[in-house]
Amino acid sequence: MAKDVTRPPSASSLSCRTGALVIDNPGLREVGIGTADGGLAETFPDIVELAAGCRFSDCRHEQEPGCAVRKAVIHGTLSAKRLENFLRLTRELAFEQEKADIGLVRFEKKRWKGISRLAHGLRNLKGQ
Ligand SMILES: [Zn+2]
Repeated sequence: MAKDVTRPPSASSLSCRTGALVIDNPGLREVGIGTADGGLAETFPDIVELAAGCRFSDCRHEQEPGCAVRKAVIHGTLSAKRLENFLRLTRELAFEQEKADIGLVRFEKKRWKGISRLAHGLRNLKGQ
């Protein structure tokens, strides 16, 4: 009958599944490479906020003119030590990201090598 079709299977099981997804997400974020920027923003929210006021959007807060972060250090609203830690972490993350990129390129090359070898093998099979 129609009433069996229109009724949702179980509203509570659906909300359970949604809850599980929400719980799973933080764990996944920690595993992925894309966590770098999020981690930085979480650790140094004040600097990230200050960086929005920098003249250049790609400001590294080192020698750039119009840097709002360095201005905050000069004015004493941000500690130089904190900026130093931020810059160190930024460099470390950039390095990690670079390593991950290189690893990914290697993986892609390996994968394509495997595929072309397979295609080559198939061609040989056809020739026989
Ligand atoms: Zn800056």
